[in-house]
Amino acid sequence: MFKTFLIKYGEIAIKGKNRHLFEEALVKQIRHALSKVDGAFSVTREQGRIYVDCESDYDYDEVVEALQRVFGIVGFCPVMKVEDGGLEELGKDVIRFLSEVYETHNQTFKVMTRRAKKSYPIDSMEVNAELGGQILDAFPEMKVDVHNPELLIHVEIREKIYIYSKVIPGPGGMPVGTSGRAMLLLSGGIDSPVAGYMIGKRGVVIDAVYFHAPPYTSDRAKQKVIDLAQIVARYTGPIRLHVVNFTEIQLYIYEKCPHDELTIIMRRYMMRIAERFAALDGSMALITGESVGQVASQTIQSLAATNEVCDLPVFRPLIGFDKQEIVEVAKKIDTFETSILPFEDCCTIFVAKHPVTKPNRKVIQRSELKLQEKIDEMVETAIETAETIRVE
Ligand code: ATP
Ligand code: MG
Repeated sequence: MFKTFLIKYGEIAIKGKNRHLFEEALVKQIRHALSKVDGAFSVTREQGRIYVDCESDYDYDEVVEALQRVFGIVGFCPVMKVEDGGLEELGKDVIRFLSEVYETHNQTFKVMTRRAKKSYPIDSMEVNAELGGQILDAFPEMKVDVHNPELLIHVEIREKIYIYSKVIPGPGGMPVGTSGRAMLLLSGGIDSPVAGYMIGKRGVVIDAVYFHAPPYTSDRAKQKVIDLAQIVARYTGPIRLHVVNFTEIQLYIYEKCPHDELTIIMRRYMMRIAERFAALDGSMALITGESVGQVASQTIQSLAATNEVCDLPVFRPLIGFDKQEIVEVAKKIDTFETSILPFEDCCTIFVAKHPVTKPNRKVIQRSELKLQEKIDEMVETAIETAETIRVE
């Protein structure tokens, strides 16, 4: 029934030149999201508003779902768009709107008119009063309540007139593409997809790197990571996923270094390699799913030890989250069910029984010296042989 959606976005935070960039990026992301939905849509920007016009038949729920995944949208309203044919005509339109959208007509209501077209001859207070009167005549069981109405009927008078009463919440955040690019260390776990989602929500374009250790990790584990990247990409747009064969490096560390330091040294090489891919892709930061104290490799000492090998800032959006809070987001964004599929990830195979929880950085650095002979070459090989998958 609705042919148009009005998009609401966080207007307060964006002033001046940035507003223009923000709106352009938002339009682009909305178009991208709707390109996956059956139907023809046009997305336009006018007078500080963004509208989606549906130019063919479409599935309402699919459009709503697509818009709910576009970062930067605070809310959106299915609107009835009508021509300006005078106040009497407008009253009829509003009544038609109420008849079509609501099955019952016994709610309390308030009309809220916004007159953006200043040439409109009647001021908004008068429009409110006139439309309110017409509604009461048409639906005698409805009642005006100006303080706490059940229905807030918006009437926006522009070149056309827009009538709406429902605001569907969007995800908020910033449109992807307004805040640069970052490299996500994506494993098959619960945390890292959520971390990618959260940084994407701040407007950052996401690329990803996954460390694969065949035959210790199976093709199914790799497929699971691709599937997770695909779910995250529904929000962030296409992701370049680099799949790095990490087996040789892991085995070499296993052979040369104390076993209680394996995880931490392995994590340091992951960060180093991720940073190399970041340089290749133009990413300006790394992203991980770490949270303080969650496991031995995420104590403050361990985080410091992994941090010291990179120059780029490392974003850890889950750093202060409890597992339960992370799980809630994972469920909301639909990665949870995939994340808990029971395929091994490369860390679980090489974990020591008693990993160090307070690694001393000098000690770790000394252990890494034992890798000197071959590690640089192995890192180069890992980078050169990585498979890059474009995930949509
Ligand atoms: P997750 O649920 O994201 O797997 P985790 O709680 O299992 O996290 P760790 O295994 O210690 O934690 O990993 C910490 C972070 O390191 C992950 O959130 C992820 O960003 C990165 N990471 C771990 N393993 C891999 C991997 N095989 N490939 C890419 N990144 C990884
Ligand atoms: Mg993990």
